[in-house]
Amino acid sequence: MGPIGHFAVGLAAKPAAPKVPLGVLFLATVILDVLATAFAFAGIEGAKRGIPWSHGLFMSVIWSLVVALFAARIYREYRAGAVVGLLVFSHWVLDFISHPIPFSSFSWRSWQWSFGHPLPPDLPLLFGGSSKVGLGLYNSISAVEATALELGMFILGAAVYVRYIVKERKSRGPRPA
Ligand SMILES: [Zn+2]
Repeated sequence: MGPIGHFAVGLAAKPAAPKVPLGVLFLATVILDVLATAFAFAGIEGAKRGIPWSHGLFMSVIWSLVVALFAARIYREYRAGAVVGLLVFSHWVLDFISHPIPFSSFSWRSWQWSFGHPLPPDLPLLFGGSSKVGLGLYNSISAVEATALELGMFILGAAVYVRYIVKERKSRGPRPA
């Protein structure tokens, strides 16, 4: 899934973690992709090696736990840690539904994926050589539909976020003059 869809979950999580800034919630939802980019640079992951260290189910659980512990320490709150950790893991769940994504065949001209045949799953359960999973939603819908889906998710997330912020302002009462 693209960042817009992941960010939607970050927005929706704000009421559950008031102490955590929105930017941190956003970062938590895409940290597995940040890791994937870093690992690709380092040559640990890539087209040949796959993405077990950033997007394997096992390592995604580990990253979620590590980030949860960090966040709980920084914000001195178990709940903040749990929410941020769950956001990290939400990335894997959304990728599990949408992957494999036929990005390699994406055409900016037609705005279509034209791979022609379904791609094999690309999310490993453990490490290299283990079984790979992915429901492949983005293999069966068009790039336009995928974008509409993510924008829709983002609007829903933003609605939850704005509702929370407005309620919060009201409960603080009128500002002193
Ligand atoms: Zn991803």
